[in-house]
Amino acid sequence: MKVIVKRACGHTTAEALYGSAAERERKTRWLDRSVCTACYRAAELTQAQCQTSTLPTLTGSQAQIDWATTIRAGALIQVDAVGDHCTTPADQVLFAELHDRLTNITAAAWWISQRGASAHVLLNAVRTSSPT
Ligand SMILES: [Zn+2]
Repeated sequence: MKVIVKRACGHTTAEALYGSAAERERKTRWLDRSVCTACYRAAELTQAQCQTSTLPTLTGSQAQIDWATTIRAGALIQVDAVGDHCTTPADQVLFAELHDRLTNITAAAWWISQRGASAHVLLNAVRTSSPT
């Protein structure tokens, strides 16, 4: 059953609802209180832009840059968490070097190709690549 729902952001969306009447009612109430996908993605992008505002500007098409900005922001949160576990000075120096190489990758296409990669995979990718 497809219904038109007015979302919390003010947009209306067509939503397919399944299940019992109670389940459809519960889903409709949830949709009423949540923002649409476009508004969710716009907020996610704005947050990612704030998180990475001090980093080099990404290059690529605008759609690639927008997508990669979100990917890079999420990836760097994970990478920074790895850095928190570097306890020896040698590890901290190595981590800082790899982090610096990673944050200086400006090709949006590279970040998109790495989406979903763990922090360790990202750090290993820059460790095994030659410095640019
Ligand atoms: Zn919206």
